[in-house]
Amino acid sequence: MLPKRIKNKLQTLGVLIVLLMGSFIFNSFLSKDLQQVQQASLIGGLKTSKGLSAFPIKIPEIKFGFALDTFHVTIDTIRNNQFLAELLLPHKVEYQKIDQLARNVQDTFAVTKLRANKEYTILTRDTAEGADYFIYEPDVYSYVVYDLKDKLDATVIYRPMETTIKEAAGTINSSLWVTMQSNGFPIDLIDKMEGVLQWSLDFYHIQNGDQFKLIYEERSIDGKYAGIGKVLGAYFKNYDNEYYGIYYENGKLKGYYDEEGRPMKSPFLKSPVKYGSRISSSFNPRRFHPVLKRVRPHYGTDYAAARGTPIVAVANGVVTRAGYGKGNGNFVKIKHDKTYATQYLHMSKFGKGIRSGVQVKQGQTIGYVGSTGLATGPHVCYRFWKNGRQVNHLRLKLPNPEPMPEKEKPTYFPIRDKVVAELGAIPFPEPLPIATEMNEEKKGATE
Ligand SMILES: [Zn+2]
Repeated sequence: MLPKRIKNKLQTLGVLIVLLMGSFIFNSFLSKDLQQVQQASLIGGLKTSKGLSAFPIKIPEIKFGFALDTFHVTIDTIRNNQFLAELLLPHKVEYQKIDQLARNVQDTFAVTKLRANKEYTILTRDTAEGADYFIYEPDVYSYVVYDLKDKLDATVIYRPMETTIKEAAGTINSSLWVTMQSNGFPIDLIDKMEGVLQWSLDFYHIQNGDQFKLIYEERSIDGKYAGIGKVLGAYFKNYDNEYYGIYYENGKLKGYYDEEGRPMKSPFLKSPVKYGSRISSSFNPRRFHPVLKRVRPHYGTDYAAARGTPIVAVANGVVTRAGYGKGNGNFVKIKHDKTYATQYLHMSKFGKGIRSGVQVKQGQTIGYVGSTGLATGPHVCYRFWKNGRQVNHLRLKLPNPEPMPEKEKPTYFPIRDKVVAELGAIPFPEPLPIATEMNEEKKGATE
C-alpha cells in the first residue's frame, strides 16, 4: 500500500490525464466535424451552381461585416512589444496616418488597449494602395474596426448573443464535477443547478447513483460558447427522493418553484461554503476530540475545504463579532434576527470590510477558509445558534417560505407540467465506469 500522500498525488495525476485526454479527443472530434461541414458545403455549393446555371456561384464569406473575397486578408497575432505602427507599416499605411488614427481613437478604442497574443485581421482592397481596415477582437463579445483610409477612426461592434435551450442529464458515479466533465457538460452548470436546488437538497449528501436532469439556456456568440443563462428546469434524484425546480416569471413573481408552487428559497443557506467542500466532522455533543484526546462536545459542523475558499454569510444579518480566539482562531459571528445567529471559525482572514456592526447579505463573503486556532487542517467550523443555544443546523426545521398566491397557480401549473414532461423525456447517458477512492478517504481536518 502506497503512503496516502503519494496516492493522492497519483490520483490527481490520473484526473489530469483523463482531462487532457478528454480535451484532446474533443478537439479532434471538433476538427473532424469542421472538415465534414466544409466538405459538405463545398459539395452542396457545386450542386447548386450546376443546377442554377452554367456559371459557378461563389458565395462570399462575410466576416466583421465585410465580404472577405473582395479583400486581400492578413490574419496574424500581435506579438510581445509590437505596436500598431509595426503591424501597419508593412501594409503601406503611412506613419502620419497611424499617428493620427492613434489620436482619433483615444475615446473609442485606444490603441494602447491592443494586447499581445491576440489575433488581428488586416483587410486590403488594393495591395498597391495600402491597407483599408485593421480589425481587433478584444473578447468574444465584440470586435473593433479601425478605418485606415478616410475617417481614421474606430468602431466597436458588439456581436449579438444567441441563446439556445439545452439539456443535460447524468448519473453520479464519483462526484458531480467528474460526472459533468465526463459527459461533456459545462462545469458552470454545477453552480447553476446548486443555485436552483440548494434549498431542498443538501449537496453534501449526494451519493453514487444519484441522478440529475437540467433544461438550461446556453449563450453563444458566432457559434462560440459564451456561458450559461438561466436554468429553466432542474430535476435531482437523491436516494429515493425526487426534487424539481421550475423557473417561473410572471409580474412580481420571479424565481424557482417546486411542484406545489412553493418558492425554492429560504432565509438560510444550507452551508457557508460552496460545493467542493465536505463535512469532515458533524455536530456531536459527545465527540472524542482528536487534538485534545478527550471527550469534548462538538457544537458545530466542520466543512473541510481548500485554504482560501470563500466563506459566505448563510443569511442577512449584522456582524456582532469579527475577532480572534485561542480555540476559535479568526472567527465571525452574525446575528440574523432575535432568534438566530451563526458563527464561522478558523478563518485564514476576514472578508473585505467585515467587522463588528456591519450589515451582511446572504451569500456575501465574510472570510476565507483557514486553520487558525485549534484546527488540524483547513476547514470552517460552522455554528448555528437558536435562542442563545447551539443547535445542529442540519436537523433544524426552519420555517417554510410562503407559497405562491392561489390565484397564480392556474397560470403556473401548465408551465410546471410542460417542464416536468420535458425533463422526463431527457435520456440519461450511459454512466462512465470511473473508479475512485473518494469515499474511503472521508476523514481529514477536524478542529
Ligand atoms: Zn468544528
